[in-house]
Amino acid sequence: MTRLLDLPTLAQLVRNVGLADFLRQLAAQIEADFQRWPAFEKNARLAHHCAQGVIELMPISDGARYSFKFVNGHPGNPAQGLPTVMAFGVLADMATGTPLLLAEATLLTALRTAATSALAARVLARPGSRCMALIGNGAQGEFQALAFHTLLGITQLRLYDPDPQASAKLQRNLAALGLPVHITLAASIDEAIAGADIITTATAAKAHAALFGAAQLTPGQHLNAIGGDCPGKTELPPEVLRAARIFVEYAPQTRIEGEIQQLPAELPVTELWQVLTGQAPGRQSAADITLFDSVGFALEDHAALCLVQRLAQERQLGHDIALVPGAGGPKDLFRALR
Ligand code: NAD
Repeated sequence: MTRLLDLPTLAQLVRNVGLADFLRQLAAQIEADFQRWPAFEKNARLAHHCAQGVIELMPISDGARYSFKFVNGHPGNPAQGLPTVMAFGVLADMATGTPLLLAEATLLTALRTAATSALAARVLARPGSRCMALIGNGAQGEFQALAFHTLLGITQLRLYDPDPQASAKLQRNLAALGLPVHITLAASIDEAIAGADIITTATAAKAHAALFGAAQLTPGQHLNAIGGDCPGKTELPPEVLRAARIFVEYAPQTRIEGEIQQLPAELPVTELWQVLTGQAPGRQSAADITLFDSVGFALEDHAALCLVQRLAQERQLGHDIALVPGAGGPKDLFRALR
């Protein structure tokens, strides 16, 4: 049988564990899987584009378990009342091919993206970073804010979005949690990023955007750019990329989809796992401008699916569905029709 975790059940699981604790466990699982990077068989994700957006499949295996995530990216969706990003994931046993888990992954994507961002910032941002600018206050916003508060100790947030309702929603949702975080609404991107320790960009537009230029940066800032994740969809101009030391998840995928699609393909970049395993340096000086050019990699979803499978099992959440034929009479498929 395959365990089904739908959206209400996954939300229940996260509430049950506690949001902050869930983020901690997720970051630890993602870090542990980045630490065993060579164990994974990896591919750049498979993308199918249309004028409105993209649908992607993200497969990966560590030899024991296989997972894939279905995810879309349609920046025009909110105007139709739909989320920009929606996803579900499957975890399977490699030895028999049995699908073990079918899980919602829209919420899980926001959680794992935020946990990965905070994990990267832990080795790339200046120690003692407290102030983060958050540019783009849509669906990912709360999760980024929470992960950076919980895992990095961010206590000041400056929000900017051209849609004031998005920023108000983010401020409201965070206030309801009663976190010791001081939130200000900035009137412009310039105002939000001036002197911030960390700049997170989470905007959605199918275009080569330039949210800010190199002249607006302060030495030592860390950029956590999560919104540029498709060919023709970037957030930062090349001059910002040239001013920064660049870190990516999986270079073959990021060269196609990330901010670095705008740079020559031979430009050296560092993969996050190299820093996490001590094989490459992260931040080297207090004045470095560091950039985590995040596009989202299958390993993070694999880690997230393995974690929720274990947690759901421990708490007996979700229910089993007959997605594929069960054991018994393996050559008599026809009996399913009787
Ligand atoms: P969303 O549509 O809910 O929110 C995007 C927000 O960006 C909107 O509120 C919009 O008003 C705002 N925005 C647009 N242009 C802006 C600008 N110039 N300045 C400031 N704000 C601007 O989308 P979401 O689900 O929050 O996702 C945000 C981005 O992150 C998307 O591009 C998505 O594809 C990407 N994403 C990346 C990862 C990853 O792993 N790197 C994971 C999930 C989502």
